[in-house]
Amino acid sequence: MKIGFIGLGIMGKPMAKNLIKAGHELVVFDVIKQNIEAMTAEGAKAAASSKEVAEECRLIITMLPNGPHVKAVVMGENGILEGAAEGTVLVDMSSIAPLVSQEICKACAEKGVKMIDAPVSGGEPKAVDGTLAVMAGGDKAIFDEVYEVLMAMGASAVHCGEVGAGNTTKLANQVIVALNIAAVSEAFMLSTKAGVNPVKVFDAIKGGLAGSNVMNAKVPMIMEGNFKPGFKIDLHIKDLNNALETGHEVGAYLPLTSSVMEILQILHGDGHGQDDHSGIAMYYEKNANAQIRK
Ligand code: NAD
Repeated sequence: MKIGFIGLGIMGKPMAKNLIKAGHELVVFDVIKQNIEAMTAEGAKAAASSKEVAEECRLIITMLPNGPHVKAVVMGENGILEGAAEGTVLVDMSSIAPLVSQEICKACAEKGVKMIDAPVSGGEPKAVDGTLAVMAGGDKAIFDEVYEVLMAMGASAVHCGEVGAGNTTKLANQVIVALNIAAVSEAFMLSTKAGVNPVKVFDAIKGGLAGSNVMNAKVPMIMEGNFKPGFKIDLHIKDLNNALETGHEVGAYLPLTSSVMEILQILHGDGHGQDDHSGIAMYYEKNANAQIRK
């Protein structure tokens, strides 16, 4: 199938590569030229704008940082809606606020374009392996139509409800991940300051109730002081902002999320916005004047 792919960053690039591997023909666009070139080297066709992608493809995937970027790509000048034929399907896989997904879906519907939101969890390693967890919202018939395409990038794809439900699920995911990294960092700083080797702590507890995918993925990075992204602190700030805003709109209160948000803001202020979110450990390291290292 001919698929348009817009947003070829840390996640978009490997996801697009897996679509090519699955036999699809790709037409790609990104505002960064090198990202387009990385994909044409893999056999994708370059487009000069999102509009041009839409003129060529009846199925378009977007993987962009946040709501304003998706709105610009879909509704802006030289955007998808300027080029899309009626009946085109848009799958927005970016993590954005659920209400913005609904707003974009409405604008798409006015032009006869069908849209679902389908953000992912799993990070870069799972994007590379094609084992992402996809959580989708919108018309179930559209979800069923694109299911196989989603499964070329993921190990699971779950339809969660109406449009926006994918991103609501993703916000829940991001709250859990942020709080989990903070919990792990806090606990490993405690054991480090008390004089126990973090490798021993990790080996001893990873198989018990405290163990988690987050611990398995992030503690080895923390113990090596490797905060190369991965998932950037600035993107997690964006997600927690969306979670707090959505929480306040729906009357759900998120005191722990607010606390971790402040830690992320401090790290951003210290110049760590482009580091991996496992860098939450650096907040504890700075305060305790110690490092969690092998
Ligand atoms: P990224 O910043 O690496 O990539 C975003 C890409 O979008 C960049 O290449 C950028 O040039 C492009 N872009 C921005 N504005 C554009 C525009 N107007 N037109 C065309 N291209 C444009 O971010 P990422 O890490 O790949 O994340 C993308 C989305 O996936 C985010 O919503 C993020 O929250 C989510 N996500 C990321 C991870 C992760 O581990 N990195 C995991 C799950 C979900």
